[in-house]
Amino acid sequence: MAKKQIDIVAEVMDLDSNIVPYLKRIERSLIVSIPIMMDDGKLKIFEGYRVHHSTIRGPGKGGIRYSLNVTLDEVKALAIWMTWKSSLLNLPFGGAKGGIFVDPLKLSKKELERLTRRYTAEIINFIGPDIDIPAPDVNTNAQIMAWIMDVYSMQKGRTIPGVVTGKPIEIGGSVGRDSATGMGMFYVLEALCNKLNYDLKSMSIIIQGFGNVGGWIANILYNYGSKIFAVSDIFGGIYSEKGLNIKELLEWRDQGKFLRDFNKNNYKHISNEELLTTKCDVLVPAALENQITNINADKINCKIILEGANGPTTPEADKILHNKGIFVIPDILANAGGVCVSYFEYIQDIHSYFWSLDRVNKELKKIIVDAFENVYKISKEKNLILRTAAYIIALSRVAKAVELRGIFP
Ligand code: NAD
Repeated sequence: MAKKQIDIVAEVMDLDSNIVPYLKRIERSLIVSIPIMMDDGKLKIFEGYRVHHSTIRGPGKGGIRYSLNVTLDEVKALAIWMTWKSSLLNLPFGGAKGGIFVDPLKLSKKELERLTRRYTAEIINFIGPDIDIPAPDVNTNAQIMAWIMDVYSMQKGRTIPGVVTGKPIEIGGSVGRDSATGMGMFYVLEALCNKLNYDLKSMSIIIQGFGNVGGWIANILYNYGSKIFAVSDIFGGIYSEKGLNIKELLEWRDQGKFLRDFNKNNYKHISNEELLTTKCDVLVPAALENQITNINADKINCKIILEGANGPTTPEADKILHNKGIFVIPDILANAGGVCVSYFEYIQDIHSYFWSLDRVNKELKKIIVDAFENVYKISKEKNLILRTAAYIIALSRVAKAVELRGIFP
C-alpha cells in the first residue's frame, strides 16, 4: 500500500524515473531477538524491529508499537509514512518505525519493563538524538519511553533525554505531547469544516480506537461541544443515538477496562465493522491500518474521514470514497500533530528550555494549519484528492533533498 501510493503520486508529479525506486527504498532494517525471563521463571523469546526508511532530511523519527500485528513489512510501511509526515510539515526529520511482535496485555509491568530494556539494548546503535528518535505508538506510552531513555543514557554514561520523545514531563518531556495528535486532528478538521462551511459543533462523530489518539480526539471534540455517537476499542464499540458521555468512558478506560463491559441505558454494543459503516458526519479511524478497504468503502456513510491512525484507508477505498464525495483528511496530515510536538520536545531538550502549553498549542496550530492550507490549495488547483496533494508536497521535498545531496558515492 505504501509503495502503491508512491506510484500514484509519481505519475501525477511526473517524477524522475530514478527517484521513484529511491523513494521506495528502505535505508536499513534491523531484526532483533529479545530473550526475556518471565515472572514464572520460563524463558520467552520475542522478535523486534527498527527500520529507517529515510534519513535524507534529518534523523529518523517514528514510534514503537507492541502488538500481535507487528511484522517487518508493517514496520517498513509505517516508516515510509513517517518520512512523508515529517516532510509535509517541513520538520528536519526523516522516517523510521519500530515494533515488537507481542501481546502486551499478557505481560506484567515487570515483564514489559524487561522487554523494553532488552529491546533498547539490542537497537542501541540504531537510535540516538542525531540518528533516530523513537516515540510512543500502539500499546506504548510515556513510561516505556522513560525506560528506553534510561537504558540509552546508562550505556552512554550521561543523561540523554533527546533519544526519545513522548517521555514523562519530569524527565524532559513536553507539555502537550500527550494531547498533540488529537489537537492536531482537531485543528485540521476545523480548518476543513471552515472551507466547506460546516458547523463542527453540530456534526456527529464516530471514532474507532479509544487509545492515545482516539481517546484524545474524542475528549477534545466532546469538550468542544460536538456529539460523539460511537467509539470502540479492540473488543468492539459502544453507540448511543443521543451521544456518549466521553468523560465517563475515558474514566472507565483509565481503570484498565474495555468498552464491551460498559453498560448504560440507551447505550448499545456494536462491532468494529458496524461502527465503521454507521451514519455520521465525521468518521475517525484511530486504531490500525487497513480498516477502510474495497470491501466496506461503499458502505461508509459520512461526509469527512479524519485519519487518526496511520494507513487506515487503502488506495482502492480512496477511489470509492472520492466517487461518493467523501473528503478524506489523510493520515500524514491529520495525525501529524504528534510528530510536530515531538519536534518541539526535541528542541526543548537540546536547549534545556521548556515551553508553556499555550506556546506548544499555538505553534502546533500554526504549523498544522499552514500544512493544511498548502494541501488544500494544491488539491483545488490540480483537482486531486487531499492525500495526493499532501503526497506531492511531501515527496517533492524529499526528492529535492536527494537531488541536492546526490547519490553517494
Ligand atoms: P493505542 O494503543 O493508545 O490505542 C489503540 C486503540 O485501538 C485502543 O483503543 C485499542 O483497543 C484499539 N484497537 C487495537 N486493535 C484494534 C482493532 N483490531 N480494531 C479496533 N480497535 C483496535 O495507540 P495509539 O497511539 O492511539 O495509535 C493508534 C493509531 O494512531 C495507530 O495507527 C498509530 O500509528 C497512530 N498514531 C499514533 C500517534 C501517537 O502519538 N500515539 C501519532 C500519530 C499516529
